[in-house]
Amino acid sequence: MDTFFIEFRDPLFGIVVFFILLFIISFLSYWWGRYKTSREHRDLESFLGKFESITEGDELSKQVQTNSLTSESWLLLAQSFEHQGQTFLQILSNAPRTPQALHFLILIYEQLQQYDKALEVMESLEELSPQSKAERLYLECRILISDHRLSVDEKAQRLIELYQQHHTMGYMIFEWLFTYRPRDGWNNFDQSLSERLSDVLWRIGDENLDLDIIASNAYLRELYSAKGSVALAEGSSVFELDILIALRRYGVTKATLQFEYRCHECKHISFLPFHRCPRCHAIDSVETVMSLTKEQFEENNSLQ
Ligand SMILES: [Zn+2]
Repeated sequence: MDTFFIEFRDPLFGIVVFFILLFIISFLSYWWGRYKTSREHRDLESFLGKFESITEGDELSKQVQTNSLTSESWLLLAQSFEHQGQTFLQILSNAPRTPQALHFLILIYEQLQQYDKALEVMESLEELSPQSKAERLYLECRILISDHRLSVDEKAQRLIELYQQHHTMGYMIFEWLFTYRPRDGWNNFDQSLSERLSDVLWRIGDENLDLDIIASNAYLRELYSAKGSVALAEGSSVFELDILIALRRYGVTKATLQFEYRCHECKHISFLPFHRCPRCHAIDSVETVMSLTKEQFEENNSLQ
């Protein structure tokens, strides 16, 4: 009878116990994986279901469009979307297996201004999709600009180095330089960006202009002659600048330029400049579109 049982001290006993434990651990691990996946799936369905019910609710849509919601309702709505958005972030964090999911995760971290975390996700995305170098540089610029530990001079120096190294993110880098360190902006200016940066250049105060660079560049001569800062152009091939130069020649100063921003990739128009297109999410795709308008400052002064 004893021959049917394995002795406690028999080495075979240890092997049998090892395989039984292995089976139990494998089964538990498989069951936990299935449970976790089904729970995430339920969360995602519930999350999407809430958006569907909101889309079907014409009443809420009408109230939002007619702005008839009270402040308390707006607050509750914002809190509800914030909670759902966090859910979305959690689901994506749990299952970032595709480049598209990683891309959404980066966009969410950007919206939350957590650029460090966005850059971490970018490292995973780069392994799956090597053509995301521009996005990495964009996030590095964002982190640099929002880093409170760096002085303005340090930021300027690093942004200049980034531009000299990669020759991309020109709008973002020179917009910052001309705003905070105009002298550094002019000293390192890539003149091929002049037309794209028309709005930024237009807003630089006369005391911060570099007249030598302006005098040596045909487009800048026309832009600043149209503004009235210099008188170095008789006309321009750009309609708006040509009109302004002609008006200033006759002493009319009640006209100026206003700017809109167009995405080079999807042609989306925005009233505000952007470094990532709000519609197609392209990086560094902003183009400046100018148009003539009345000079509000002169108008206000004349009313006083
Ligand atoms: Zn776009």
